[in-house]
Amino acid sequence: MLKGVSASPNIGIGRAFVYEKKLKFKRRQLDEVETEIKRLDEAIEKSRKELRKLRDVALEKIGEKEAKIFEAQLLMLQDPALITEVKRKIRSKVNAEAAVDDVVKNFITMFEQMEDEYMRERAIDVQDVGERLIKNLLGKDFQCLADLEENTVVIADSLTPSDTVNMDKEKIVGFATNLGGVTSHVAIIAREYGIPAVVGLGDVMNHVKTGDTVIIDGSSGTVTVRPDKATIYKYERMVLEAEERRIELDKLKDLPAVTSDGRKVEIAANIGEPGEVENALNNGAEGIGLLRTEFLYQGRRSLPTEEEQFEAYKIIAENMGERPVIVRTFDIGGDKPPSYLNLPKEMNPFLGWRAIRISLDRIDIFKTQLRAILRASNYGDLKIMFPMISSVDEVRRAKQILEETKIELEKEKIMFNNNVEVGIMVEVPSVAVIADAFAEEVDFFSIGTNDLTQYTLAVDRTNENIFHLFNELHPALLHLIKRVIDAAHKRGIWAGMCGEMAGKPIAAPILLGLGLDEFSMAATSIPEVKKIIRSIKITEAQELAEEALKASTTDDVYKLSRQFLAKNMK
Ligand code: PEP
Ligand code: MG
Repeated sequence: MLKGVSASPNIGIGRAFVYEKKLKFKRRQLDEVETEIKRLDEAIEKSRKELRKLRDVALEKIGEKEAKIFEAQLLMLQDPALITEVKRKIRSKVNAEAAVDDVVKNFITMFEQMEDEYMRERAIDVQDVGERLIKNLLGKDFQCLADLEENTVVIADSLTPSDTVNMDKEKIVGFATNLGGVTSHVAIIAREYGIPAVVGLGDVMNHVKTGDTVIIDGSSGTVTVRPDKATIYKYERMVLEAEERRIELDKLKDLPAVTSDGRKVEIAANIGEPGEVENALNNGAEGIGLLRTEFLYQGRRSLPTEEEQFEAYKIIAENMGERPVIVRTFDIGGDKPPSYLNLPKEMNPFLGWRAIRISLDRIDIFKTQLRAILRASNYGDLKIMFPMISSVDEVRRAKQILEETKIELEKEKIMFNNNVEVGIMVEVPSVAVIADAFAEEVDFFSIGTNDLTQYTLAVDRTNENIFHLFNELHPALLHLIKRVIDAAHKRGIWAGMCGEMAGKPIAAPILLGLGLDEFSMAATSIPEVKKIIRSIKITEAQELAEEALKASTTDDVYKLSRQFLAKNMK
């Protein structure tokens, strides 16, 4: 049994799929070259077949532009310059894997030095083609998360948005990763889809082979590898019990989140792609409190067009009907910059050129997104939210660009909702500290506790070594949250929260007591948070919040909240 960090609750039992991104092979001196050349030819043929299939899938599911990438990769496999060079290397008695690796590296250097941006970007394709060839030479299946067997537990070092973008989530019953904390990408995806996950395991890849039976206990943060029959039985019973609890909770999921003495709050879902709307509604979401739009920008080779974005926002707006949908403008950059933006490597990506900072420097990209959101605002109740705001100037500038975009649309006689509400994420401490000034500028606040905690406590949210220091119930955070809510109410606007804290049962009574108006969370957390809110009194929650604000340690806050829940949730 391995111990990690619990990132998404519940139990998953399935077969492991070890997702290895790094290729390990040995460099060998050959005795005989012809068999090696034959091996290479076979690997080329296999790669061709795979790429043709990928091209067809891309064409069907994503679009022509993506399909062209695989087309280009197919051409590379026919490129005599590349293949002849690899064969020449093999003839000099280097094994095929090493020969491909050497030649591909030279090609990458060559492409990267080219003047033409388009050609520079082809370096990634050469790298992809090289990796595919080596994998096929090693006789390993090219690993792809788009085509998994039923009941798969994905085991990986880490998972990035480009790994998960085409992932077949319905087949996945669990995640276990070496890296990552509770707010890492995989943890967020897992919670959104209700898939159990354990992260920060350190060396899970060394203990599990593809095909092993694995039990993920996302609630206790453990992974059991190759369990005996008795253990499987024990966990299967736990799965059944959890299912029963779930059925109980389901009964109240469509009831309003109102305290027993009448204070009503809004409960919304965070989503990361249009496909999640159904899950949000099934769990009783009254709106979308955060649409992360990064899905449009990740896992691809070029910027999304206005039309593509419009279609995505429109479908979400339509499916949500009259319920509000908060579209957050892109939060790209940081630690996972899309390759096509050619962003320089940064020393401190979380403090770097990302989100609104890119938007305000690359107005072309920003306006394309704003146009698409505005156009989609005709089809539902869309609101716009800016991420990573740290100064009032940024809000003003972003609003000004929004106004310019509206004028452009008007000139083109394109319809949109002229009264679309505009809000900001409060996720940088500077905003919380002078929230009064920001409240003058916007229609709403949404507190992003994932980043607000990271920046306030100086704890990298993705670093598992300091994971124990990352805690939203730190009294300093509670004071900042109070400041934000009070500033909003003073100005007559509402304050919500879309960081992970909003979906945590332990935090719910305190947040309610502090006056939070909207809670936006992973869809699967909604029923439980509703249950808590419906079981307590606002007056008592306010008293709890007051006590919590007086605490000096996180432990004290926990204790207060735990006692409160024990008393109220019998
Ligand atoms: C946050 O920072 O709390 C947030 C909701 O945004 P993200 O997790 O996308 O950074
Ligand atoms: Mg954030």
